[in-house]
Amino acid sequence: MTIGDQQLLKRMNRSVLLRLLRARPGLSRARLADESGLTKSTVSLLVRELLDEGWLSEAGTTVADGLGRPSTPLQINVGVRALMGVEIAVETVRLACVSLQGEVLHADTHALTDSAPAGVCAQVARMAAEAHRQLNERGLRLSSIGVCVPGAVDDCTGVVRFAPNLGWRNVSLLPALEQAFAAAGLPGVTVQLQNDADAAALGEYEFFGGEGGDPLIFVSCDVGVGAGVVLNDRLFTGAQGMAGEIGHTILEIDGPLCSCGRRGCAEAFFGSRALEREAPDTARAAAFFGVLLQNLWVTFDPRAIVLGGKSCTHHRGLAEAAFDMVKRHADAAGMPAPELRLAHHGELAPAVGAAALALHEYLRPLQPDARARRARAAREYGIPSA
Ligand SMILES: [Zn+2]
Repeated sequence: MTIGDQQLLKRMNRSVLLRLLRARPGLSRARLADESGLTKSTVSLLVRELLDEGWLSEAGTTVADGLGRPSTPLQINVGVRALMGVEIAVETVRLACVSLQGEVLHADTHALTDSAPAGVCAQVARMAAEAHRQLNERGLRLSSIGVCVPGAVDDCTGVVRFAPNLGWRNVSLLPALEQAFAAAGLPGVTVQLQNDADAAALGEYEFFGGEGGDPLIFVSCDVGVGAGVVLNDRLFTGAQGMAGEIGHTILEIDGPLCSCGRRGCAEAFFGSRALEREAPDTARAAAFFGVLLQNLWVTFDPRAIVLGGKSCTHHRGLAEAAFDMVKRHADAAGMPAPELRLAHHGELAPAVGAAALALHEYLRPLQPDARARRARAAREYGIPSA
């Protein structure tokens, strides 16, 4: 076995233990060995490392197990490592620092001051540096930074292909963010970039979905409308990072004019700007929203559909009316409806989801990680990898 194989094996074993303890806090070393199939000595060694690195903590006092052996319950440590997530929205920048279990430790929201990429990177880096200072004061260690944007992201290259509501096309954002973070004095942690609805979907799945909680679809109804899909334990982003761009599915031929220049798109009915217009027809908006959710349901047969974004948080009746429509369709079809709910962290959902990106990747060592994808893209397309 090469050193590379051994490292991968170790990461796999660590992720098995972390995922077991996340699903079932309080397992002892002996129970972890039983559940994982790893030997007791391997579990002891790995648990020691995970305790030392702040991933796990020992919960409470040692108790005797069924056979009278001393047994210490273990749990995910929420007091050492912090994950940072930033959402670059059309009008605002939202930042959230969360624990390994998704509890919000620190949050900060500012109006977006300059939507040019360089200005955005500088603002994000300033907010991140301030949040990092606050984490330090509380004795918390920054593990990673995730950033999400309202647009299609090529996660092989860290390029934002298209973000119409920011006016961006082919912006090499990830390398620019990494430089801005370094210039602001942040530690050299993993930085990841993803689409906002994709990040929000991953956050709901990672922190609140439970094992086996997919397919999960997050529908974000903000200035833009988009969906993130978690399928088979990973984000489904499509061939070019465009999957889930449902805001421009046409729901009515010759309908109202959309920001994209076409007519009758989803965004033109229940994007937040459409609902802010004078006397919007909210009943009609809710009906079209219900149609969209129903289409997603029959396309993906998800376990859960989660809604977020301003249209849902500011117009509570909209989400409920759309949910009712899906339930009526389900009843008529004699099928149970998927779980239908609002995002756990409301408007912070994309930022919390961005914070989950690195954790999700860390816990799945067999999936190609962002660095490997970028290296492969560099080889295939001659793109410089950062
Ligand atoms: Zn459109």
